Amino acid sequence: PSAPVDPFQQGWLKGVYDEKPVKDVHTRFPPEPNGYLHIGHAKAITVNFGFARSRGGVCNLRFDDTNPTKEEERYFTAIKDMVYWLGFEPYKITYSSDEFDKLYELAEELVRRGKAYVCHCTADEVKKGRGKLPNGEHGSRVACAHWSRSVEQNLADFRAMKDGQYRPGEAVLRMKQSKDKLKAYANNPALWDCAAYRVTKNSHHHRTGDKWRIYPTYEFTHCICDALEGITHSLCTVEFETLRPAYNWLLEALDMKIEGSDEKGPMQREYGRLNVEGTILSKRKIATLVDGTTVANDATMSWDDPRLFTLVALRRRGVPPGALKKFVLDLGVTKANANTATHTLDANIRTYLERTVPRLMLVLDPVKVVLTNLPDNHLEERDVPFDPKDKEKGTHKVPFTKTIYIDRDDFREEDDPDFFRLAPGKSVGLLNAEHPIRCISFSKDSTSGKVTEVLAEYGADVQPGKARIHWVADSPAHKSPIMAEARIFNPLFKSAKPNELDWKNGGYHENLNPESLVVYPNAMIESGFGYVKHNAPWPKEEGEAMGVVDKSSVRFQGLRTAFFALDKDSTEENVILNRIVSLKEDTGK
Ligand code: ATP
Ligand code: MG
Ligand code: MG
Repeated sequence: PSAPVDPFQQGWLKGVYDEKPVKDVHTRFPPEPNGYLHIGHAKAITVNFGFARSRGGVCNLRFDDTNPTKEEERYFTAIKDMVYWLGFEPYKITYSSDEFDKLYELAEELVRRGKAYVCHCTADEVKKGRGKLPNGEHGSRVACAHWSRSVEQNLADFRAMKDGQYRPGEAVLRMKQSKDKLKAYANNPALWDCAAYRVTKNSHHHRTGDKWRIYPTYEFTHCICDALEGITHSLCTVEFETLRPAYNWLLEALDMKIEGSDEKGPMQREYGRLNVEGTILSKRKIATLVDGTTVANDATMSWDDPRLFTLVALRRRGVPPGALKKFVLDLGVTKANANTATHTLDANIRTYLERTVPRLMLVLDPVKVVLTNLPDNHLEERDVPFDPKDKEKGTHKVPFTKTIYIDRDDFREEDDPDFFRLAPGKSVGLLNAEHPIRCISFSKDSTSGKVTEVLAEYGADVQPGKARIHWVADSPAHKSPIMAEARIFNPLFKSAKPNELDWKNGGYHENLNPESLVVYPNAMIESGFGYVKHNAPWPKEEGEAMGVVDKSSVRFQGLRTAFFALDKDSTEENVILNRIVSLKEDTGK
């Protein structure tokens, strides 16, 4: 048999390595700590960490924290947790802000080399200088009055920026890219002297405090940090492709890279973004739901609400990290953006869970069934495999007693020839029990009209039913049933394309799906759950094997019901379950 195919050494990723086949591959995942990661970031993490690991190399987690206004401590922790959860260990955790001194020195050096200047143009003047014509097209570039000032003037002015003598927008350090290599940049206005340093409004930085009033831009910081950290392959998303010449220009200007070569210094290459339709991923849009007061009927919405597709939410919902990585790789890593939909993701998760979690019986909305022909103390115990196709996963004892509970859905007051489960006079099989049962009668609550109890008989004499249903025994000796609250999640929006709703004017509000959360407060789980809980996850996921285990690692398939995981708010006495995915598409359960 041939060796298993390593997805990190195929296709686009193979091409990237072949362009620069160094021994010590070093990559980085560089999030801006200004929000929670979403499923798109799972691709960036998988690509950067997976590529390095596959080539025997390492990957840094770099917090790209150069924007003081938007960063918060809670995001740093959450981002780091998600990297470990996905099964990757950063070689180093770095902060762009740790390089502020160095970056500033390099900016002065750039000025000294005559390759940067302080510009006092307004935003409109900069646009005009870049040749932006009224029809939106680009004309020829015009250098502004500040472009030709002397190195001494620029140095003095840059230091004045640093010393707080300019307000935001009054002065910007710009790189002299356009005249440097006019030809290469002729058609790329983004490169026409982009900013290197700017004066920021709210300049307090959570790590460097009030030391700086000026902060470096992405275009200035990213490539330099890559070079300082010894990054060999700088993998980012396609929207950065137009900036690739600027990335190389700056490193070459500072002698941090050999001109026109990828030998010394990092090589930037771009892969397609992962976009999931059927939900919202943008921080700004999610924030309107999480922090907004407009979602009056949904006060509990948080960043890790299982209906969202942030990584914290997917984790809380119980999605195994391995399923996300597999999803990303199955979609393929290429230059093309990968567009997919939430139901495609759910289908992948379902397939992944099929053989990786134990099976148990769980009743969402229980109805009591008393088996009249059995003595009060009747007890059968069967050894039932957790996975019928994989005996190595072990077995557990399932008690069977005079009183059992079945799902309300599996009983009908009036029989129907097309209905194959329990109804008066009809028999049905029971999963994991020896014999079928037949309904004799039932009683109802006079006020609610709900069925309260079904009387049935059990045994070899009962004619076999056409279907087999799940159930849970009433056996205090086995601690059965275990009571639970089960939360079923459905799409948050009625629209399949919620991104296209009118977000600015609150138009998304009436599009919220009132059924997005359905709660079953009195669900019952069989006693095998106790064992599953203490032995989860099972088998261990990569990250979980590294010790990243939390309640959501307790996952199981509720036979004929859905896949479930423990919610983080669950306690020993108060079990809360989240539905990870349904067993089939659109079962409504
Ligand atoms: P967003 O604006 O979508 O919240 P971002 O681009 O601001 O995300 P960063 O923190 O800057 O997020 O991203 C860190 C890394 O993750 C970057 O290299 C970025 O290219 C990558 N990334 C972000 N979104 C996606 C996506 N949808 N698919 C793949 N990679 C992504
Ligand atoms: Mg960003
Ligand atoms: Mg973005």
